[in-house]
Amino acid sequence: MQTMTLNDIDVRGKRVLMRVDYNVPLDSDGAITDDTRIRASLPTVRHVLDGGGRLVLMSHLGRPTGVTESLRLKPVAARLAKLLDQQVETVPECIGDAVRRKVQSMENGDCLMLENVRFHEKEVKNDPDFARALAASGDIFVNDAFGTAHRAHASTEGVAHHMEMSVAGLLMARELTYLSRAIENPVRPLVVILGGSKVSDKIGVTRRALAIADSVIIGGGMAYTFLKSQGVPVGGSLVDEASLDFVTEVLASDRSGEGDLLLPSDHVIAEQLAAGVPTDIANEIPAGWLGLDIGPESRMRFTMAVAMAGTVLWNGPMGVFEIPEFAQGTKQIATAIADATDAGTVSIIGGGDTAAAVNVFEVEERMSHVSTGGGASLGLLEGAVLPGVAALTSKA
Ligand code: AMP
Repeated sequence: MQTMTLNDIDVRGKRVLMRVDYNVPLDSDGAITDDTRIRASLPTVRHVLDGGGRLVLMSHLGRPTGVTESLRLKPVAARLAKLLDQQVETVPECIGDAVRRKVQSMENGDCLMLENVRFHEKEVKNDPDFARALAASGDIFVNDAFGTAHRAHASTEGVAHHMEMSVAGLLMARELTYLSRAIENPVRPLVVILGGSKVSDKIGVTRRALAIADSVIIGGGMAYTFLKSQGVPVGGSLVDEASLDFVTEVLASDRSGEGDLLLPSDHVIAEQLAAGVPTDIANEIPAGWLGLDIGPESRMRFTMAVAMAGTVLWNGPMGVFEIPEFAQGTKQIATAIADATDAGTVSIIGGGDTAAAVNVFEVEERMSHVSTGGGASLGLLEGAVLPGVAALTSKA
């Protein structure tokens, strides 16, 4: 069933309750250090306001236990107001009488931001009464928070069951279109690149990637579990012992008809994970040394696979890119994907660290799509149904 989107409905005069992902990073003074998520929501926000809707925004911020002054959404509302160049009202609650009065006084084109929904522990428990109380602020529910769509919380999932109409926002729709097309009907060859540190998080994704992709590239800390299970010396590199069985099974299974699996053949190694330490390049990692980035030969091999791709899906850095000595692998793969995109390849970057990396290496603008949701994009790739999306098509 096709998910309805904001483009399919008329919002004029309606109270539009919209879940956004304004979980922005803050510094120690509480200042917003990156407003990408707020900016990403602007087309949807403007669409509602320009269409004469009365927009009521809700989001979480951080992981508070109870009301936490430093995690109030007022500074976020102020940033949104600046970006929109229009007033964004706030209210220090997300349910109850004060909220009802504010919503009642709204006019077409007004914007109100409710308080951090996670001040209530019932939010993450997806409590039906709390969800109903949230739903009281809207005639229509719009979910534009792709970054939290893999979680069944009251403001992402439960609320939809208490609304007459629930639709996807424009950002959500764009995410779903890009990711579903890449997974279900990709321009081939499809190359999936997985990296980062935790294999356990990516077992389901690795399995599915091997089934649907023409090539699966594994780099980053994840690769050492695979290499160890092949008997390659990995020294003191990150190894997820609990995932060794899975990895051994993947490598041992008859993979005819499945995608090629490319592992790094050389590594940037060091005796410590720190900036400024001496580094070396090795095919096999000696005892006492750590593999912290893919080496030059691996970069070349991976770059060639990327250059031939019709579609690239990338989730997880190739090394400890936060430290310059170990950033080259991630930088070169990011650049290779951007170059391929310039030449017509469809490139999709999973959120989180990978989105941060393409930003650091200044190739973000050249990618076809940079997802705002790390966990949610992995969930889709894994074949999971995202609760925040499923709720948009079902009625209680
Ligand atoms: P994840 O949360 O699983 O996506 O992992 C992201 C993190 O993996 C980044 O912060 C990287 O610094 C880290 N990482 C990448 N490669 C390595 C490696 N070879 N050893 C240790 N950590 C790594």
